[in-house]
Amino acid sequence: MQDVAQHEIDVLIDAWYVVTMNETRDIIHRGSIAVDKDRIVDVGKTVDLERRYVARQRLGGDRFVATPGLINTHIHITGEPITRGYVPDDTPFEENVFQWLCTLYSVANAEEEKVSGQLAAVEMLRSGTTSFLEAGTINFLDEVIEGLVDVGIRGRVGRWVWDLPPEPSVYRQSTDQAIANLQHQLENHKSHGDGRIAAWSILVGHTTCSDPLWKAAKALADEHNVGLGFHMSPATMDPDGFIAEFGQRPMHHLAELGVLDSKAALTHCVHVDEQEIAIMAKAKVNVAHCPTTALKVAYGITQVGKFPEMVQQGINVSIGTDGNNASNYSDLMRATYLVAGLFKDARTDPQMFPAEMAFEMATIGGARTLLMEDELGSLEPGKKADVVLHDTDRPEWRPLLNTMNQLVWSADGRGVHTVVVDGKVVVEDYRCTTIDEDELWANAQTMGEAIAARSGLPDKAKFPML
Ligand SMILES: [Zn+2]
Repeated sequence: MQDVAQHEIDVLIDAWYVVTMNETRDIIHRGSIAVDKDRIVDVGKTVDLERRYVARQRLGGDRFVATPGLINTHIHITGEPITRGYVPDDTPFEENVFQWLCTLYSVANAEEEKVSGQLAAVEMLRSGTTSFLEAGTINFLDEVIEGLVDVGIRGRVGRWVWDLPPEPSVYRQSTDQAIANLQHQLENHKSHGDGRIAAWSILVGHTTCSDPLWKAAKALADEHNVGLGFHMSPATMDPDGFIAEFGQRPMHHLAELGVLDSKAALTHCVHVDEQEIAIMAKAKVNVAHCPTTALKVAYGITQVGKFPEMVQQGINVSIGTDGNNASNYSDLMRATYLVAGLFKDARTDPQMFPAEMAFEMATIGGARTLLMEDELGSLEPGKKADVVLHDTDRPEWRPLLNTMNQLVWSADGRGVHTVVVDGKVVVEDYRCTTIDEDELWANAQTMGEAIAARSGLPDKAKFPML
C-alpha cells in the first residue's frame, strides 16, 4: 500500500549498519541515507526510505558499514607527503623540525606542493577522511587550492606564517609581512569548490610568533569568522621558551593575549600542566591530538600527556595525523586506534578511551574543531552528505559482532570502499575517481626524489643498498 508520496532524490546509500553519530548515537541495522544535491535529507531503515524516496542513483548494499566522513584536524599536506619517510626516525624534536623538515619544505616548488596536496587528499579520501584542517605550512597556496578542488576533498588551509626568525631564511617574514600574508589569504580564499576549500587564520605557533602577530591573527580570524589554528607544546621547547621570555607557560600568555576561545584549534598540547588545562577548559579551546607523531618523535605523550584530564574537563579533543615524516601515514582510522589504546595502557585504566569515544573524536569532535558541527560529523538530515562505506567482505571485518569495536580496533582505512563528499562519489571500489591515480604515484615518486636531492640532506637509510 502506498501511504506516502515518493520524493525524487539524487542518491540512496544502503548499508548493513549505518553508524549515524547522531545525538543518541543510533546505529541503524539495514539502514539507508537519502541524499539530495550536497545534503542528507533522511536517514532510517532501508525499507522505510525505499517507500519515501525514488533515487536516481543507488550506492552501497548489504556488505557495507556506513559512517560519517572522518575529520583530520591536523595535517601538513605540503612538504611532507611528497618527502614521506625521508627523515630518519631517530632525530630529536628540534633537529627533526628545523634541520630536516624546514629544509625539505623550503626547496619544493609550486607544482610539487600541488602534487603533495593532492597525494595527501587522495590518501585521506581513500582511508575515509573527507575533511581536514591544514597545519598552516603551505607555501604556494593558490596552486595547492587548485589541486585540492580537483580532488574534491573538504579542507581549511593556510600558508606558512611566522615572524620570529628560525631558519631557513626562505621563510623569514617581518611581522607586517606575516600579517599581510594572513590578510591576503583570508580575503582571497574565502570559498573554492562550492565552499569545500577555504582559508583559515593559521600560524605555525610554538615560539615562532611575536605578540603583535598572535593578536593580529586572532583579530583577522574574528573579522573573517574563521578559526585560528596553531601548534603548541609538543615538546618542552615551547613551555621553556615562553617561561624564558614571559615568565609564564604558554597557555597563561596566550590567554592574556586573547587568543584562546572556542574558535581556537591547538595542535599537540602534550606538555601542558594542570593550570594550563584549566585555562584551556575555561576558554573552550579545541585540541588536535596527534598520537602518531608523539610516538615517532618521542614527545612523551604516555608519560606526561593529559588527554584524559582534558576530556574530563570538557575540552573538545579531536584527532590529527600531522606530517608524513613524523607520522608516515594520513589514515585517521589508524590514529583513532592509537587514541583509544595509548591511555588505557598509560593509566592502566580500560575506561580510557572506549572505542565509541575515540570515534566521536574522529567525527563530531573534528566537526567542532573545524567549527562545522552543524554541517559535518554525523549522518543526520540537513548535514553535508559526506559518507564513507567500509567493506566488511574483508578478514579484519569478520565476524561483525560489535560495529564500534570493529571500526576502531579491527579496521583501518584500507577497508574503505566508497566515499561521498558533498553528495558526489570521490572514491569508488577503493580508487579515487576524481584524479588519475597512476599519474599521481609517478609524479610523487619523481618529485620526491628531486626534492630530496635538491635539499642536500643525506640519505640516512641504515641498511646497505645493493
Ligand atoms: Zn604539525
